[in-house]
Amino acid sequence: MPTLVYVVSLLAAVVAGAAGVMVLRRRRISHLALPLGVMLAGASLWSACRGSLLVTGASVPATITLRYLVFVGVALVAGASFWYFAVLSGHRLTRRSAAMLMVHPTVLLCLLLSDSGREAFLHVDTVGTTVVVGHTPLFWLHTAYCFGLLVTGIGRASAAMGRAIPRHRHVFAVAALGAALPLAGCMVGLVFTIGPGDPDLTPVCFLFSAAMWWWVERFGQHSTTVPVSTRRVLDILDDAVVVLDARGSVIDANPAARCLLGGGLDDTSLAEGDAGVPWRRYLDADQDRHDRGTLVTSTGTVLDVRVIPMSDALGRSAGVVVVLRDVTEMERLRAELVDQATHDWLTGLNNRRVLEHRLASAVGHATSSGQPLSMVLVDVDHFKAVNDEHGHSVGDRLLAQIGRVLEASAGPDETAARLGGEEFVLLLPGYAADDAARRADDLRARCARITLPTATGTVGATVSAGVATLAPGWSPDDMLRAADDAMYAAKAAGRDRVAHAPLPV
Ligand code: GH3
Ligand code: MG
Ligand code: MG
Repeated sequence: MPTLVYVVSLLAAVVAGAAGVMVLRRRRISHLALPLGVMLAGASLWSACRGSLLVTGASVPATITLRYLVFVGVALVAGASFWYFAVLSGHRLTRRSAAMLMVHPTVLLCLLLSDSGREAFLHVDTVGTTVVVGHTPLFWLHTAYCFGLLVTGIGRASAAMGRAIPRHRHVFAVAALGAALPLAGCMVGLVFTIGPGDPDLTPVCFLFSAAMWWWVERFGQHSTTVPVSTRRVLDILDDAVVVLDARGSVIDANPAARCLLGGGLDDTSLAEGDAGVPWRRYLDADQDRHDRGTLVTSTGTVLDVRVIPMSDALGRSAGVVVVLRDVTEMERLRAELVDQATHDWLTGLNNRRVLEHRLASAVGHATSSGQPLSMVLVDVDHFKAVNDEHGHSVGDRLLAQIGRVLEASAGPDETAARLGGEEFVLLLPGYAADDAARRADDLRARCARITLPTATGTVGATVSAGVATLAPGWSPDDMLRAADDAMYAAKAAGRDRVAHAPLPV
């Protein structure tokens, strides 16, 4: 059985070495290739040293050298696996950090080249042809460090698995299993195979791990590129995205957020921002629910704000993602559209649609409350003649002037509207017939005072007005018709006057 383990170790050394060479050839196209190549080189060295013990079993110095070299392999595997898992879970490891990880195997190699260094690392005695190994504190420090790196790497892969979309999760599971196997083999070796002659099971595990890691590098790359692509999207997004932890500190912000909310990434500059965005106050309202609203900055920028709560695996609040979108232009267009849909372009008065809506609700309110309601319908006298004599544009200017008179004479609860053509309406809630007639005559007199200087002489206007007061059982249409009839009665009576619709008896 031990012989078989040695043979498998040699096989693992060849497989890991070959896989390492293959992987390193892909280092220009794969971010995982370099750390994986180093990892496989370490596994190959580790397995080769262990396997070679079969052939060098008789030679004590060679045995001792191989036993020491194993630790360099261990250090390479541990350091590179940390690097590999960092890249796999979407983090970028700087060249400096990667180089720092390689300091440990390098120092170890230098240490083990000298006799005193070896002695400080492992006490090795030979009893006849048997090598007896005693562990020193330095050895345990090295072991704890390696275990720490591997466990952290596995933890990172597990965390990335939790964040990944379901179709990519198995990639992280395979990579973590690839590291967990040799870790378990190594622990078994440490705990159970006390005797130095006992074979190490870790290289056997490497045979499987090498295949798993290689598969992940070759076919699981998309799992690495998903977080990377998310980052890229965030970078080019026009929306500002700010991530806050549970205590409200900014932990991430995309370039659009920095541009919108001010230079730096620290809380203060983001909170006070160049644009004076009071987004913190918005958050303070309620952090723990999905929220959406609008913020107006001190410079008039209108922001659509969405607050998306995040929770950790245990369901506890882990902070919020705030997405801010500049909707100033959209809001301007929306307001313009609303204005166009409700106002007459020439006079700026409410249009017929608004009048009908207000009339319907005023009739409803007057009917239920018993309050009076009146309306004045105004039609310009001989307006066609103005167009014919002075041109259409002068006619337009006259209509705009009459519109201003109506606007000025309408009180806060009253509605002035252009019904169409040269007809206007003033809706008078709370007005009974006599008071409404007085208002109509006042309006008529104001219109009569209009003087419009033109190239072809001064133009004035008179209007005829019909007044209707809501009678029981009338619909809005009945009221409009009554005012129209009264206006025609005023025309028939000679124009430039007010007539009241007959009151029901
Ligand atoms: P009456 O005293 O009987 O009301 O005579 P009138 O000429 O005012 O009435 P008529 O209905 O015969 O003519 C209304 C004119 O108003 C005809 C139309 O060309 C003109 N008109 C309608 N809308 C506009 C507009 O937006 N601008 C201008 N310039 N003229 C308009
Ligand atoms: Mg008319
Ligand atoms: Mg007219």
